[in-house]
Amino acid sequence: MRNHGVGSWPARRGRAAGARTAVVHAGRAAAYRELDERSRRVAHALEERGVAKGDRIAYLGANRPEFLEAMFGAALLGAVFTPFNTRLAFAELEVLAADSAPVLLVADADRRGDAEALYGAGLVGGFLVVGGDQVRGGEQDLERAVATAPSGEIDRPVELDDPFLLLYTSGSTGRPKGVVLTHGNVTWNCVNSVVDTDLLSTDTALVSAPMFHTAALNMLCLPVLLKGGRLLLEERFDAERSLDLIEQEGVTVMFGVPAMYESIARSPRWQEADLSGLRLLMCGGAPVPPPLIELYMARGLAFVQGYGLTEAAPGALMLPVADCGNKAGSAGVAAFFTDVRTAEPGPGPSEVLVEGPNVTPGYRNRPDETAAALREGWLHTGDAAEVDGDGYFRIVDRVKDMYVTGGENVYPAEVEAALAAHPAVRECAVVGVPDGTWGEAGAAVVVPASDHRPDPSELRRFLGERLARYKIPVSFDFAGALPRSGVGKIDKKALRARLDGARTGD
Ligand code: AMP
Repeated sequence: MRNHGVGSWPARRGRAAGARTAVVHAGRAAAYRELDERSRRVAHALEERGVAKGDRIAYLGANRPEFLEAMFGAALLGAVFTPFNTRLAFAELEVLAADSAPVLLVADADRRGDAEALYGAGLVGGFLVVGGDQVRGGEQDLERAVATAPSGEIDRPVELDDPFLLLYTSGSTGRPKGVVLTHGNVTWNCVNSVVDTDLLSTDTALVSAPMFHTAALNMLCLPVLLKGGRLLLEERFDAERSLDLIEQEGVTVMFGVPAMYESIARSPRWQEADLSGLRLLMCGGAPVPPPLIELYMARGLAFVQGYGLTEAAPGALMLPVADCGNKAGSAGVAAFFTDVRTAEPGPGPSEVLVEGPNVTPGYRNRPDETAAALREGWLHTGDAAEVDGDGYFRIVDRVKDMYVTGGENVYPAEVEAALAAHPAVRECAVVGVPDGTWGEAGAAVVVPASDHRPDPSELRRFLGERLARYKIPVSFDFAGALPRSGVGKIDKKALRARLDGARTGD
């Protein structure tokens, strides 16, 4: 094969284990051979619509087989797959489409309105719709495009250095940045994952975290497909349903953020559910709280915890399962083929730096931000860690202004810019505060433009038109001024302490 990229994986798997089940969705199973054939048909259909190497194919949809087929189909041509976060507001999707300039957008039927609007605005070159009666048999029907496309072999030259994915993160400036991941970045990340977690070809993985996130896609779906295991795709996470699938479908592997594991453990069925088939619980995005570790260990289950970021495709640190109990709160050691160190040697907290074949070559259209992130050959993560005597990393702080709520990153700069556009707001600041359910939640402090305080529900409505729902702060406080540091920057540490004091009644 001349295709050395991820697009060739279904064909390589197909020839070795074609009859084995690759993907199950809504009760329907597809073998590796079928995944291979449908990905090839998608590639032909894309090519008929003018897609060529280097072009972007955007995706707006839930966890379905078509997500994987569109991704592999694009990758067979050397095109770049850019899945958008389905939770974004339309105004945010416009920004991503303008930056990525997709030749084609593939969207779920319930997002057809957004696809049409993006096409109408000239932001995408065309669109195809997944499922739904309204387009059936027509120009925009992905299923028809697949059914009528040739199924012959596609063997375009694709190298490991060619771009494969374009994944958007918001960035501390408040402007979304597209992280370019090459075929090599993702391949090496999957090799790390397979080596560090001992994935097996007999594994069945429950995929209920959204695949547009690098963690579900690159830590779970792609490593499992590389090994020849089986994926159960769920369009949304549901704790009860997860327990059903664990018992009835023989789930052995899962990936989730702590909030998902919390909600499973709070299910009334938790105590009596048969969890004996589970062997690998991957958890990332935030440290796993020790009480959650204890709940699972009481049921004989340990987590494999990890730390990563989109720019590292994403895996950087991994805490082996054997250390789950005795190193609670730690993010572990560097992934097998990756190197991780802190900027300042010594025990104190300092910025985490990552180097290795999984690290991005940079951001799309952002040479300055690329140069700032990739100084002296090391990815500067904006997270701070301490290293213990055994060389294990503990993520203790963030150098960048960001918080994580239920697995979604929020960059306060973006929320502040949107909120400051409201005429009743003179200035404002947003910080992440501890939250029992979501890990962290957003808290806004607003200095009103006049004596008249704006109504928080009006501010929520205003933000709802501009931002994804998970970015809207859960609380709005009002103040006459914001605390500032010596150089005039808003002092977020002081703000956080003030909010914390108000909450605890100090
Ligand atoms: P993303 O690029 O969306 O994958 O988000 C990456 C960011 O999530 C990192 O830079 C960290 O700030 C945070 N993060 C990921 N994993 C962990 C972890 N295990 N502990 C603490 N923070 C984490």
